Amino acid sequence: FGEISLKDIDQVARSSFPLCMRHLFDSLREDHHLKHGGRMQLGLFLKGVGLKLDDALAFWKAEFSQKVGAERFDKEYAYGIRHNFGKEGKRTDYTPFSCQKIILSTPGVGDHHGCPYRHFSEENLRAALGKMGVGSRELEQVVEKAKGRHYQLACTLTFEAIHGASCDSGINHPNQYFKASQNILK
Ligand code: SF4
Repeated sequence: FGEISLKDIDQVARSSFPLCMRHLFDSLREDHHLKHGGRMQLGLFLKGVGLKLDDALAFWKAEFSQKVGAERFDKEYAYGIRHNFGKEGKRTDYTPFSCQKIILSTPGVGDHHGCPYRHFSEENLRAALGKMGVGSRELEQVVEKAKGRHYQLACTLTFEAIHGASCDSGINHPNQYFKASQNILK
């Protein structure tokens, strides 16, 4: 595969985004805003998933306009999105973040980026897993792994619980999670 269109994005977010990206996506839809770290983490992931630049601009604009207005979006935020696609500044084509990089990030107050298995409180993690459809027995195993600081293992168990299929390679990249999910669901 290699492309997703805007009209499918909510559906694939529900079915195939790992928890870190699902949380950013839902927060953006709810708050119509994300701070810089979240825009980077989600923006590069969406690029990796196959959202084209024009669709990415339309996607972010639809949300941010509701909060800051279309004009301010064009002035302050569109640049960063084009930048992620290598269309501004040094024209580096930035690659999506790996789990390791996300796990080692340090989200502050009001940030939604990071890895939920590491950065959420236990209570919030339980609620988020429930929302993703992880059954109660598996949920306990996931929380156990997260408490033991095996974040990627916790993510792998979540993947397996949701998809009813094993993921022998384990999860080491959010875009790998997405691909593995799409391969099962297609
Ligand atoms: Fe995202 Fe990786 Fe954490 Fe899973 S383990 S939630 S893919 S950063």
